[in-house]
This record gives sequence, C-alpha cells and structure tokens, in this order.
Amino acid sequence: MLESLKSRTITRLPDQVTFEGRVLFLAEDPALVRDQLAGKDLPWPAPIKLRDDISTDEITPAYICYYYDERLGEFPYLGLKAGNEFPIGRGAVKSGGFVAAVSGKRRGKGSSREQSPYAEMMAGIRLVIAENIERIYRENCQNLGVFTSTDFSLIERIRRGEAIPLADFTRGEGEITRGIIEHGGLFQYNVARLQGKVVVPVPATPKRPMTLAEKIIARHWVADLATDRVGVPYVRPGDEGFVRTDIRFSHEYVTPMAAIFWRDYVGANEKVADPASIFFFRDHLTFLELAMTDERKAEGLLDVALELKQKQEEFAAEQGIRLYGELPRLARNSAVQGSEAICHSKMLEQHALPGHVIIGSDSHTPHSGAIGCVAFGVGTTAIFNSWLTRDVRLKVPPSVLVRVNGVKPANITAKDFMLQILRQPYVRNGHAIGKIVEYAGPAVEALSIDERATMTNMAAEVGAFTGIIRPDAVTVDYLVRERGMARRDAERMLEGLFSDPGAEYEEIIDIDASQLEPMVALPGDPGNGLFIGELGQPVKVDIAYAGSCTAGKKEDMDMYARVLHEAAEAGLRVHPDVKFFIQFGSQEVKRYAEQQGYLDIFRAVGAEIIEPSCGACINAGPGVSYKKETVTVSAINRNFPGRSGPGQLYLASPYTTAASAVAGYITGWTPGSLGAMRLEPAHS
Ligand code: SF4
Repeated sequence: MLESLKSRTITRLPDQVTFEGRVLFLAEDPALVRDQLAGKDLPWPAPIKLRDDISTDEITPAYICYYYDERLGEFPYLGLKAGNEFPIGRGAVKSGGFVAAVSGKRRGKGSSREQSPYAEMMAGIRLVIAENIERIYRENCQNLGVFTSTDFSLIERIRRGEAIPLADFTRGEGEITRGIIEHGGLFQYNVARLQGKVVVPVPATPKRPMTLAEKIIARHWVADLATDRVGVPYVRPGDEGFVRTDIRFSHEYVTPMAAIFWRDYVGANEKVADPASIFFFRDHLTFLELAMTDERKAEGLLDVALELKQKQEEFAAEQGIRLYGELPRLARNSAVQGSEAICHSKMLEQHALPGHVIIGSDSHTPHSGAIGCVAFGVGTTAIFNSWLTRDVRLKVPPSVLVRVNGVKPANITAKDFMLQILRQPYVRNGHAIGKIVEYAGPAVEALSIDERATMTNMAAEVGAFTGIIRPDAVTVDYLVRERGMARRDAERMLEGLFSDPGAEYEEIIDIDASQLEPMVALPGDPGNGLFIGELGQPVKVDIAYAGSCTAGKKEDMDMYARVLHEAAEAGLRVHPDVKFFIQFGSQEVKRYAEQQGYLDIFRAVGAEIIEPSCGACINAGPGVSYKKETVTVSAINRNFPGRSGPGQLYLASPYTTAASAVAGYITGWTPGSLGAMRLEPAHS
C-alpha cells in the first residue's frame, strides 16, 4: 500500500491565502442571523453578542449526520439556537456565499463528529473564528483543511480583500500542526511524511517527573517511522508528534465517511494496517426507526441512515474488521432487536488494557481511562489516517489534577462528582479544554471501575483531551474478575503506571465528596449543575431515561435495581405520568442484569427494558422527547439543546433518575426515602 502513496504528488498551500465571500456572525439575536441570511452584512467591529458554547450537535444535529458525503453542505447550523429560535434552514449558508463563520467561546464543543466542520466546508466556510475553539473540533478543521483562528481582526482584513499570510494561521502552532495546515489537511501531510518529505523531530525533552498519561504517551511515541521505532524516554506538554495506537475504533456515524475517504484518497483495493486492532460498532442508530418522526421518514432520512449501517458492514467485510453489529432481526422486516454493545462499553469490558493508547471516533472515548488508558476521541480524518499507519497525531496537553477528597455519602455517585466538577469556574470558563484530566483522591480510589468510567467518560463534557485514573488494586480485581486475567499478569501491567512525585499540573481542583448532595444539571448544558435542593419548585417529569455508555453499565444497573427494589417493596411503581426506560450498554450488561434478577424488578415496577444501543442519548431511540414542554430526567452525559429531542433534559445520577421515575418529579434518593413516599397521597 505504501508503494502506491510513495509516488503521489503532494503540494503545499501558497504563502498567502485569500478568502472570497461573506462573513457570517453566529449571533444570539435571531433577527441578526436572519438579516445576514437575507443578504445584509453586519458592521464590524460592533457590539454583537455572539453565541457561546456552540456544540457540534447544533452545527450538525444528529439526524443530519445520517449524511456522510458532500450532501452535508446543505445543513450547517441547522440546530443553532439563537434566542428561542433556530433561524438557519437547509441550504441557507451555502446560498448565502459565506466564507467565514464567527462565534464566541467554546466553539465546537460536545461530540467529536467531523460532519460538523465537513458540513461547514461543503457549504463554503473556509475559516472559523471564535474566542476559543474546542480541541477535537479544531483538529477536525485542520485535518480537513479548514482554517481556524481566534484573531477577530481577520474579519476586517477579509472584508478588505487582503491576502492573508498563511503564517497567520500557523503562528504559535507546533511543527506538525503547522505542517498539516500548510499541506491543506492531514492526509496530504501524512503522505508527505510517508514519502520522507517532512520529518517529525523526536522530542528532546530532558529527564523530568511525568504524569501517568505523559508516561503512557512517551511509551507510544513514534520515534522513527522509517525503522518503526516506538518510545521516547520523556515528553512534556507541547511536544508534538505521532503516537502508535493499540486500538482504533469507529461507529456507523463515522466509518462510512472514513471509508469514502479511504476509497478516494488511498484506493478501494488497498488494505488497512493491522485490521485486528480495529473495531467497528453499530450502536448509535440501531433503534432509529422507532424514534424517527413520520415527517423525517417521508423526507427519506431513514433510508439515508440505513445506508450508514450497510456501508459500514461492507467495509468491515472487505477489510476483515471485527464489527460489533446489530442483533439479527427475527424475520425480514420485523422489529429491530438491538446491538451487541455501545462502543465504549465494549472497549472497557473486553479490549482496553492499562497503559494502552486508544482512539475512537467519539468524544466519550476517554471512558477507558477508568483503567489507566490514554483514550481520546478523534474525527473521521484522523481515524481514516490511522488505518494507514496505526499512528495518530498528538500534541502533549497540559494536565489538570482533580482530587475528590473525603468520603462520599452513600447516595452520591460518580455522576454527582462530575456535575459538581463541571460547575467549577475553571471548567465552566473553558480552561480545561484540551487538557488531560487526572482524577485522584480517596473518593475516586473508593469507586468501582464502572463508576470511575462515568468520570473518565464525562471528561468529554469537561472539554478535556482525556480523563485518566491511576490503575490500582481495584483495576487488578476488575481484570481478574471481568476478563479472567491471571492476577500476576494484571499486576505486571500496572508497572510504572503512576504519576511521579513532582509531576506538573497546570491546575489542581479539590472537591469535598462529603459535602455533596444529589445533583442535576439544568437543561442546556452539563455545566448547569445544582444540588436538587437548590431547584426550588418541584420539577415534574414526563420521561426518565436510564441508559447510554455513561449509565448503562453493570453498576448503573445495580443502582437502578436498588431504588426500584425499594419502590416495589413499598408497593410503588413508576409514576403513572412518567415513562421510564432502562437500556443496557451491552449484551454482557444485560446478561448480568438477568443473572441478578434485576429484569424482574424492572418489569415489576413498570419500567420499559431496551436492548443495547445509544438510542435516546443520540435522539435515536425510545426515550426521546417530541415536544418542547416534555421534561426528561436522564442519566446520560450531556444535555445540549436538541440532544435527546426538543424537550427539557435534566441530567442526573442513576439513583436520582430511578427515584424521579417513581416520584414523578426530580428527587434524589436516600435509602428508605421511597418507603416514606408511600404515605403521600399523590403516590398512593
Ligand atoms: S451512548 Fe450517547 S454518549 Fe455514549 S457513545 Fe452513544 S451517543 Fe455517545
């Protein structure tokens, strides 16, 4: 395969770049957005309140990502909320002649979907300007060849028609990022690397104390591509290069687009490197046909979405890649049965090992950090490039230490820890974006691996590069119990996997677990956390959803069962006004729940049990809302606008989700609290 790329002609971009087109301000005022789409250019500089926190869900809502090719150019910003409106319709950006899009803080937060910058690019946007830009989104832009900048003075220069030096977009960047920008994208750069036209220097970092994540990164550093030498003694934040992955995975939202890139850029008959360490998943859209509205089906979106499943299956078969797929339907055209597993659940259950480097096409890839992996989300182009060499580009991020001290009350969970961490000013203001978050402290050490995974999973909501926890005796027990590994082998794996005394942290955040109360995040952002006691009026619930990679693990099932068993003992059921869905993260979790007798408990109280899939978490399965007024309490990890339908989504712990389903309003749970509820007339 490399032979066919060796003769490719690769050129660099010219030294000066011009941008011909208009500038689109993504403003909070919907009237201003509509004016621009109607042809009016807004003056600049001007006191325009720009939208902050534009998530990739808003740039390309999940249902738009059923498209995986140039058709995406019809849809950028379809989910963008301005005031209480969604002012941008299909085709509006493309026909508006825009070349740059401007917004405020935390541009591109949330999911790692490359469909977002790809949709922008296909609509004509070549430059994204924002106060700060989330790591995965920014890398996705660079990988595709879309420029990014935090320099708002560019707006006037573009409007004056100035040619802008390419160096303005590479200033301050490391050598590799600079190279990628100068080559107009990651693939072109990688080919130049394979051809020996660019050489990535090995970091000359002197001996220093390193964090756990830095040590793992150093072990995996590609020191010399020509001789395939991997590993350097030391790295430090800012070192840039490529690391050798142990595992690469993607799901049906991403694999087809990456497969198209493979076919177009590499060649349909070429084979990926080391297919045994690549995994595909059919998890996000398994239940889509049950959640999609008739209107969307009439638009042909279900057919488009089914193409994703089919394309992934075809590519997996062509390349000999293990696909964790959909369970076979009982008969042709019969109802869908569910998936084998959600990608993150399966990674942790079966494949990840302490000290691994894992990349996945999903922002919650840090899930496996629970056992001491450096696991991080990447976009489609990075996944596609990793099929070439097993390498992924990486700039060593600074680290942040989050210590959860004290002893937590029995009804407090890792989810409550995370909602508390997410409302810390340092995190809320975006300072943790792109950093390695290492969780430590006695309250973290006391958690099970499943609960630790809730914390590392939600490093994505922090905006972090990854989340990691030092592997310890709990990890060894997990590997022995869940994987059947010999104890000595598991213990050996932990050697050297700890942060050195004196390792550098850019910030240390201390949380006192003993002071926590059950928390919820108000609709709109996982950072909107409050103690339930601070909610004021009771919040009535229509839907309770207990599932997803974050909350569909074995220990989550333990928590739902604990609450629902108490409810059943007290003669209570799920509140008549509430629909309560419990969905497993994998077939293994389902088997566990069966063995524990949980399914009987769930059914006895009236919960609906669903086979594994991302489902409602990605607005594609039972448990989604269809109306703005619908209130959902959910154990999933994020509640950006539109994430699970148009309703009001409150994030909460598994305990709170189950207790609220029974109570009919958002309430925390303490052992015995549901028994007391039986006395209340509303629930008799
Ligand atoms: S369950 Fe939700 S957060 Fe987890 S991988 Fe699926 S869509 Fe992403």
